[in-house]
Amino acid sequence: MKRTFLIKYGELALKGKNRYMFENKLMDQIRHRIDPLGKFKVQKEQGRLFVEPLCEFNEDEVLNAIKEVFGIAYICPVVMIDTDDFDTIKDTTIAFLKEQYESFDFTFKVEARRANKNYFMNSMEICRDVGAHILDNFESLKVDVRTPDERVWIEIRDRTYIYSKVVKGLGGMPVGSNGRAMLLLSGGIDSPVAGYMVAKRGVAIDAVYFNSHPYTSERAKQKVVDLAKIISRKTGPLRLHVVPFTEIQLAIYEKCPHEQLTIIMRRIMMQIAERHAESVKSLALVTGEAIGQVASQTIQSLAATNEVCTLPVFRPLIGFDKQEIVDISEKIGAFETSILPYEDCCTVFVAKHPVTKPSIKSIKRSEEKLTDIEEMIDRAVNDTQVIKIKPSRD
Ligand code: ATP
Ligand code: MG
Repeated sequence: MKRTFLIKYGELALKGKNRYMFENKLMDQIRHRIDPLGKFKVQKEQGRLFVEPLCEFNEDEVLNAIKEVFGIAYICPVVMIDTDDFDTIKDTTIAFLKEQYESFDFTFKVEARRANKNYFMNSMEICRDVGAHILDNFESLKVDVRTPDERVWIEIRDRTYIYSKVVKGLGGMPVGSNGRAMLLLSGGIDSPVAGYMVAKRGVAIDAVYFNSHPYTSERAKQKVVDLAKIISRKTGPLRLHVVPFTEIQLAIYEKCPHEQLTIIMRRIMMQIAERHAESVKSLALVTGEAIGQVASQTIQSLAATNEVCTLPVFRPLIGFDKQEIVDISEKIGAFETSILPYEDCCTVFVAKHPVTKPSIKSIKRSEEKLTDIEEMIDRAVNDTQVIKIKPSRD
């Protein structure tokens, strides 16, 4: 009786001719995640993936690792036998149940599937016969075909797979199957969630963080590094670009009307983010903005920020309420880190009464006062520190 993991894909299954490409990315991502746990063989077979342990392994550890990969609908720990011989299947089902459960006081139903329609029994007959065999072996079990506590699955293909545990995956598409984008990652709640949402659709992520040292502390930067590590559990390794932003912020503070500070700052952030995006072949920017959340996210402010961008800007949280964002933040394990009370660049250089309906014309007039902004942007880009981020385990 060999144990292995059966992976069922979600939306990937709908892909046509390109499907092999998505499958290969998915296999890469799975390999990447389980590599630290030992030796495994990852292979595809008839529209499914299998992760076969070639070493001692802990089922929960393997499940938890695979569960973090986008593009998976379900993961089933299965026992596999190299035959479709019906007596062997019946006996293996009993051995499987003995291994899988500690007490036998539940109701069950057998679900059968056969790939070969010429198999000598149909699915109904397989269910009935295996069910009867289970009842013969475990007096305390009962059948319930409507709402069973447990379903025992028998899938007869070239080999036979038996399982009863079905673990839900994250859905989405494998990272790397849909290009690359640059996430503007602050230390807040929203941007890590925005990165997660875009990565879920198969987009590989890099990140850029605008650092206002010494107005913000080393701890504030470390918090962003920690958030990057948390999201990289799902997105895979990423490059965090730490941009020295203080010189630019001080110049804006000195020369521009204070009620326009945030918008001007955000327009410059976008331009620098684009420069870094281009250098790592990212095709879009990603932010954690949501309509109306703060003054810099009114529809007028978003339009003013967007006006400088040449790349598409993805704002996956645009229609979310804060609580909905918090719920996802908690689910992905970022919330505790996001709420640590370290100052960020926007809280340091913040105006008491920021404009909520900026006019682009007036913003541009103010920006003209920043006569050496191009040189400052060049310096910020050139002096950017790139940190390679690997997933953190807790
Ligand atoms: P968050 O919770 O992600 O910090 P927020 O609600 O505080 O977002 P803003 O401060 O207005 O909103 O920022 C909006 C978006 O701009 C953020 O979601 C993020 O994508 C980007 N951003 C803001 N500050 C920075 C920064 N210091 N470095 C990188 N990106 C930033
Ligand atoms: Mg913020």
